[in-house]
Amino acid sequence: MPSSDPLAKNGIEHAVRAARRRYIVLAIAMGAAVAVSLLVQDRYVTYLARLTLLNIIVVYALNILLGYAGQASIAAAAIFAVGAYGSAVGVMHFGIPFLIAWPLGALLAGLVGILSALPALRLAGSYLAMVSIAFNVVAEQVLILGGNITGGPVGLPAIPPITIGSYSLSETQMLALIAACAVLAIYCTASFRNSQWGRAAIAMRDSELAAKSLGINTVGLKIAIFFVSSLMMGLAGGLYAHSTNYISPDISGILASFVLVLMLVLGGIGTLWGPLVGACVLTIVPQMLSDFQKYHLLVLGGILLVAITQMPKGLTQPQDIFARWRRKKLSAHPPVQSAAAPQSLNLPSLTRTGGDEHPTLSATNIVKKFGGVVALSNAAVEVRPGMIRGMIGPNGSGKSTLVNVLTGFYVPDAGTVKLGDRVIQKLSTAAIAQAGIVRTFQTPRLFSDLTVEENLSASQFYHRPGSLVSAMFGTPGNARVNGAAANESGSLATALGFSGLLGQRAGDLSQGNQRQLEIARALASHPSILILDEPAAGLSHEESMSLCTLLENLRTKGLGILLIEHHMDVVMRVCDRITVLNRGSVLAEGTPQEIRNNAAVQEAYLGKAAGAAA
Ligand code: ADP
Ligand code: MG
Repeated sequence: MPSSDPLAKNGIEHAVRAARRRYIVLAIAMGAAVAVSLLVQDRYVTYLARLTLLNIIVVYALNILLGYAGQASIAAAAIFAVGAYGSAVGVMHFGIPFLIAWPLGALLAGLVGILSALPALRLAGSYLAMVSIAFNVVAEQVLILGGNITGGPVGLPAIPPITIGSYSLSETQMLALIAACAVLAIYCTASFRNSQWGRAAIAMRDSELAAKSLGINTVGLKIAIFFVSSLMMGLAGGLYAHSTNYISPDISGILASFVLVLMLVLGGIGTLWGPLVGACVLTIVPQMLSDFQKYHLLVLGGILLVAITQMPKGLTQPQDIFARWRRKKLSAHPPVQSAAAPQSLNLPSLTRTGGDEHPTLSATNIVKKFGGVVALSNAAVEVRPGMIRGMIGPNGSGKSTLVNVLTGFYVPDAGTVKLGDRVIQKLSTAAIAQAGIVRTFQTPRLFSDLTVEENLSASQFYHRPGSLVSAMFGTPGNARVNGAAANESGSLATALGFSGLLGQRAGDLSQGNQRQLEIARALASHPSILILDEPAAGLSHEESMSLCTLLENLRTKGLGILLIEHHMDVVMRVCDRITVLNRGSVLAEGTPQEIRNNAAVQEAYLGKAAGAAA
């Protein structure tokens, strides 16, 4: 285990100390926010500051959902309204103390957030956006039709102020509480971004397919993220209701949801400080222009147009320009690639936790049709531990389709896929990956906005998640999980010879490094069966040979490998046995020698390809 290494242990202890120091910084920042708020005397300034700070909390919550997790949901105002109404109704109609009604309202908002997530589990992108817009309409109508409970179209007037015990806070004190909460929201968002949960969220945003193929349960992840961000929005809503003392169904409208998204987009979606800038600008500027109320929408629309066309990354873009410039400089002097893999690998322990050691993968009589196209008519393959199984066949013979069947992307029309004794062909992709079958893609699907190190850490998510609560609060426990993940990522990169690239953005890597990283990333999720779909495509001869060394090394670790490949030199060098697919069924199976001498294979495929490869 990497953590038995004293250096690695030091790294983790260092991370834990850093996490403790951040608590001190957080306490100081919250104290400062409270102190400054208590100095505010002017009622209008109090009002404007309160509004800005509440928007900051909501936009940070939105940043987790839209920015990091990439869930295009436009229902923030509706969720905020649930928190606001929940808390106000709790206090006014049920006589619950604020300190209980407030979190209960937020919890209700969290649950409604999960409800709004249900379409996200099936839909993505613009469809999700449309459904979530409809969600605002429904929420607004429910509030209007809520009768006495919600106060109907008029809303709830005379909401009691924030009360702690029997003490009612003054306007200024409420502002101070809200300011402290806003600082905490920024801190929690930053902690989330720098946790396994944050990395998994961005991984899902960058490539949901790849995330699933590495065992990340994206359904569970989406639900958790919708819940957390809705909870934050609901907390802001409760503070709003009791500090403004009047709420109406207007606060849940589509327009309000749009403005919140606009704040995020304008400031810089998926950045740490963008939400702060966006929320400040779009709360304060429209208020200053309140004399021009009738142009409000026009101005907002104009800002949105300019923001999206001119500054797709938001007002905090200078950082991005800097990052781009830095990347340009990096690619102008690409880091030296390690062509040769080390002769023996000092891989971190790849043993799987729980379950039997390295079972055999077997697929028999697999049929898969796409409408009229029969991609697989009678395919079969077996991969035993400590063995490299080659799979070759002409283009269109069904190799990638078989990989997709083995990894749960497709459910076969007939046939059986087993891992050990377990029938797996109906399991989800994530469940199959968790069972130990992990793949790479014919076209690499990296998490391009994450660094190399973060790609490797994200794929440890399913066996090293840490708790979501500790991720949100950046606890020492979270620092330990982060440190352990970083150690394993570092060991993997070192073993595979690209530790120099750990800090690089994955999307900027060369083709060869991208393929290397995809394999390393697959290893980081501790597979017992590794499936590689044309890993040598686009590699130089040296890179191909170093890939061979790597595969031979992995075989000695007991991994079963299925290698789909066109490069005959690679296939003939490393494979123990080879399966030849032709038109969706097995044409031949045997040792490399037997395959080389098989007349049918030579005729169908090998004769031409071997000649070309030589
Ligand atoms: P290979 O990887 O061996 O080149 P594929 O598995 O990609 O072959 O494709 C096998 C056959 O199935 C091809 O005829 C291809 O056009 C067809 N096919 C693959 N995927 C799909 C799909 N999603 N929809 C329709 N046809 C498909
Ligand atoms: Mg293919």
